[in-house]
Amino acid sequence: MQLPDSSWLHDPALATVVKALRVDEQPPRVVGGAVRDALLGIEVADVDLATPLEPLEVSRRLEAAGIKAVPTGIDHGTVTAVADGRTFEITTLRRDVSTDGRRATVEFATDWMEDAARRDFTINALYADPETREIFDYFGGLADLADHHVRFIGDAEQRIAEDHLRILRLFRFHARFGQGAIDAEALAAAAKHSSKLMALSRERIADELRKLLSVANPSQAVQTMLDAGIFNSFLPEIVPDAGHKLARLIDREMAVAATPSVARRLGAVLPNDSALVEKIAARLKLSNRLRTELIQLAAHHGSAQSARQLAYSIGIENARDLVLLSCAEDYWRDEFSSLQGWDVPEFPIKGGDLIQKGLRAGPVVAKTLQAAERQWIAELFPAGPRAAEIADQLVAEALRAERNS
Ligand code: ATP
Ligand code: MG
Repeated sequence: MQLPDSSWLHDPALATVVKALRVDEQPPRVVGGAVRDALLGIEVADVDLATPLEPLEVSRRLEAAGIKAVPTGIDHGTVTAVADGRTFEITTLRRDVSTDGRRATVEFATDWMEDAARRDFTINALYADPETREIFDYFGGLADLADHHVRFIGDAEQRIAEDHLRILRLFRFHARFGQGAIDAEALAAAAKHSSKLMALSRERIADELRKLLSVANPSQAVQTMLDAGIFNSFLPEIVPDAGHKLARLIDREMAVAATPSVARRLGAVLPNDSALVEKIAARLKLSNRLRTELIQLAAHHGSAQSARQLAYSIGIENARDLVLLSCAEDYWRDEFSSLQGWDVPEFPIKGGDLIQKGLRAGPVVAKTLQAAERQWIAELFPAGPRAAEIADQLVAEALRAERNS
């Protein structure tokens, strides 16, 4: 079996790296995602290489060949080569010597099959010779790839005990590459050990969650996770119909070709309670930006305001997200279109205009200006003349109130 030919295999930068790392005529091998994706006909994003050479030797050889070598994960044996502005992660073959579910102590190895055995899923443990394109498959990854079957290498329970993060990786890779029901043995093992996720750092959990939600369509996987109790330990607040909510959102995203956004997708599965969302964001140590977006979405979910009115107060992007998330089926498309090519207008009246119209400088100006703006928003941002009329009316009211007080 050969890797299908494709342009990334002819990248001169890859060729120089491969040449520098040849051992007894044997090139390093492409491994993991690149092989898997190439076989599936998906565009290859990152090329990872595996080599029996130890990391210091990898760096030495790369530098001797004029390629920049960055020791990105020297403990784990990873060196990043930067050639012609392209990067390649080069990892020394290794075996896990001890694992505690959170981190592994590794030992360098020279055996390809041993290196394959410590990887998570059979479809992620395929290797390819970058020159002959020959594929090396030690655990039936090719067959599983053809069947769209995401399966742990070896005993699912043991593999999860070694590294609890694999519970979440299971659902992410199943959502991405699986077809049909998730592997039964893996699901049972994941459900049984799901409380162990608590032992992981919140950053790692949040990062996996982010990646899961970025998959083209994670809705079924998320519902399966919910039903299996996987969220109990780190996101018990998730809404019970999260799968359905996500599915509806994704239908809409596809209808308008919106790129998936983690905030929007997370917004679909979290309760619409901004105080609670704030607590969840703090617990999962989400970035400030994501937290702010999520709070905005929760606070305005189901708002009676139109899409343009929302855009005026929280920005076009958040308003778009809210339309996709919470508008009723009958009018979400019209609301979404109302934002296309529309720029958020600027309120055309200034405090000075109100003073010119007769208000005395002071707090009454700000108050009247705010009332005029509210009216202008309620009337859907009418142009200059009508805005001036609104200002006239409110100034007259303010003056009348002043006279009467
Ligand atoms: P992606 O396209 O998401 O980057 P990938 O297969 O490259 O997919 P990575 O998370 O980048 O996935 O990991 C690279 C490879 O390292 C995997 O293909 C897998 O072989 C191995 N790997 C990564 N994380 C684990 C883990 N927790 N346990 C075992 N093997 C892992
Ligand atoms: Mg990768």
